[in-house]
Amino acid sequence: MRLEGLHHITAITGDAPGNVEFYAGVLGLRMVKKTVNQDDPTVYHLFYADERGDPGSDITFFEYPGAARGRAGAGMVHRVVWRVSGEEALSFWEQRLHAHGTDSHRSTEGLQFSDPEGLGHELRVVETTDDPLTAEHPDIPEGMALQGFDGVRAYTSDPVASRALLEEALHFEPASQSTWEVHGERRGAFYAYDAPPARTGLQGAGSVHHVAWSSTMDEHAAWRDRVAQGGGRPTEIIDRFYFRSIYFREPSGVLFEIATMGPGFDADEPIEHLGEGLSLPPNYEQYRDKLEKTLTRLPNPRSAARA
Ligand code: ZN
Repeated sequence: MRLEGLHHITAITGDAPGNVEFYAGVLGLRMVKKTVNQDDPTVYHLFYADERGDPGSDITFFEYPGAARGRAGAGMVHRVVWRVSGEEALSFWEQRLHAHGTDSHRSTEGLQFSDPEGLGHELRVVETTDDPLTAEHPDIPEGMALQGFDGVRAYTSDPVASRALLEEALHFEPASQSTWEVHGERRGAFYAYDAPPARTGLQGAGSVHHVAWSSTMDEHAAWRDRVAQGGGRPTEIIDRFYFRSIYFREPSGVLFEIATMGPGFDADEPIEHLGEGLSLPPNYEQYRDKLEKTLTRLPNPRSAARA
């Protein structure tokens, strides 16, 4: 049993319109679902991904309007690493980000930048046989587009404390003292730790809330058992409508989720129109009129992309 790499990464935004402009408009991802927080339907849960809403390319945001900036500290993910096709793509993104007012800098392995609320990203050229998961955008040639996640980097001062859960329960393969890889039949990703900054972290706008790994539908319950046997204290299986989920904290403090690679974002709207309308869980459908009036006005993501 192997996890199929990353499923999605969920972060927090205090500025939903600006979030749409950046992730759909600048980064060129497709908004694949516009729905509400299942615990608070007055605020959005926004999902961006490749053209088909595939696991492995999906970054999602809880909206907390006007939320103060967070900052990553020990026990938090501080960088999302994406794949791109090659050096030419790194140059393309350096220029495109600059043209949209976002500074970036070349690292030894790729190109680093932050979103407008401070969430760290890196683009990397990666040798892999995994399918590139790309979205369509009028100003971004297909060969330059983001190709889905390569991994995430988190902060901890004690990577060893997480080793048993990562290796024994989750079957992550060690790649170094502080880096692990996980690869299923279709897709893989890495999970790495860096030494934390001195200041404690703060959950807020621009911080990562949790990281979800992909499971097949058939193996999902077995993963829950493995996590429980490994001391990970998983939640019950929760039906998120587009996928099923369990949650648990790994020893460093990072909140993990294991989510199923289905039913998928076309469970309640056709794939051609993903994210265009407001999708509501069935129990909130009766409040649609009210919610549509009170939810933050958002730019149309595909016109944001054409602006
Ligand atoms: Zn999640």
